[in-house]
Amino acid sequence: MKNPDVVVIGGGPAGSTVSTLIAQKGYKVRLFEREHFPRFHIGESLIPETYWVLERLGMLEKMKKSHFVHKHSVQFVNSAGKTSAPFYFWDNKPHECSQTWQVVRSEFDLMMLNNAREHGVDAQEGVRVREVLFDGDKAYGVKIQLEDGTLEEVHAQVVIDASGQSNLLANKLGLRTWDPVLNKGAIWTYWKGAYRDEGKNAGATMVLQTGNKKGWFWYIPLHDDRISVGVVGPFDYLFKGRESHEQTYEEEVEACPGVKERLANATRDTGYFATKDYSYRCKQAAGNGWVLVGDAFGFLDPLYSSGVLLALKSGQLAADAVVEGLQKGDVSEAQLGSWGPDFNKGVDRMRRLVCEYYEGFSFGQFIKTYPHLRNTMTDLLIGDLFTERVDEVWEPMETLYPEGKVPPAPW
Ligand code: FAD
Repeated sequence: MKNPDVVVIGGGPAGSTVSTLIAQKGYKVRLFEREHFPRFHIGESLIPETYWVLERLGMLEKMKKSHFVHKHSVQFVNSAGKTSAPFYFWDNKPHECSQTWQVVRSEFDLMMLNNAREHGVDAQEGVRVREVLFDGDKAYGVKIQLEDGTLEEVHAQVVIDASGQSNLLANKLGLRTWDPVLNKGAIWTYWKGAYRDEGKNAGATMVLQTGNKKGWFWYIPLHDDRISVGVVGPFDYLFKGRESHEQTYEEEVEACPGVKERLANATRDTGYFATKDYSYRCKQAAGNGWVLVGDAFGFLDPLYSSGVLLALKSGQLAADAVVEGLQKGDVSEAQLGSWGPDFNKGVDRMRRLVCEYYEGFSFGQFIKTYPHLRNTMTDLLIGDLFTERVDEVWEPMETLYPEGKVPPAPW
């Protein structure tokens, strides 16, 4: 297949999703991934609403047979080490779709990419997309570079950018707006022999506030006795004027009783990883002949583990818009980006919850004061973001946190 109907840039969760769903409808799709899989990636904790996209992708049986840890709940631990009651996802949904997974991304992303291949996607690894080709404002293909350095042009009716934080198209077109509030950084490593809860909470994600309340730790149990533990905080605080990532991490662990006690008998299994963790959104989801999905469209602070869900969901919505456009012979911005406004509304709901946490919001206190809103709050946490029904939580939240009014998103 030289010139397909659709070209997808990047083979992460967003690229695999969008390409699989378009190929399922009989269109020819070529996907180019610059790395060779399996490759390392951060972003290990899924949330339950991924279930519906995984189902459409034909991934559910593979997930159920996998050795990924089952996740049924999330727990919050305050800066003094006090742990909240777990938020069980099945309080709201039947068990099957309320249970989700903690995944090792190198393995999960490979499963997703191979699944795309099984659905007919021509996915090539070790191929870097150098640029998107435009005729005026209309994208008509990409220039790829093979590993021997050869350059080739591939033409298509639609180009989908799923290049993650490389933001290939957004950089070229100047589409990214940075979130002035969520300008964070992260440092993480992996442990063996660290504390694991028992029973249904053995696979819970824990969010532990740091000792000085400036940030939080993620604590994510993976298979093979590994736990992923990372600290997120203001970028300047974590990276400016500090000695080394290792020392910063150790200082933060030392000052966070909840993490310190859980790591007391653990051995570090890898070196340290660090990344800039700035949230952003692109001004538009699509243009004539092109679409952005996943992190290539927007990135939100990982507090509630929403990144892979948003990659899958945007991939699904974009695929439906592209298929409809190809059927109608309409690959205009209006057609390809029709899903963008509602998607943005959903992400902004999650953003608001993220910002409220940084302003001091406590789930425990909220639920105690408004017990009838527990289910709605859990809906938000599982990623059920794309419905106005969940907006009933905001007014009560303002009564509890009047000073914590969330700065409006700049988009
Ligand atoms: P990616 O997964 O980044 O995939 C993009 C792919 O494109 C890559 O494989 C890359 O090699 C390829 N590519 C890039 N440029 C080119 C090119 N020019 N040509 C060809 N290929 C190219 N999310 C969660 O759901 N749960 C979490 O617990 C979580 N924790 C996180 C913690 C941190 C610190 C961070 C930073 C993020 C976290 N996330 C989490 C977010 C999650 O990692 C991302 O949202 C998710 O990986 C986005 O998927 P994607 O497919 O859009 O991009």
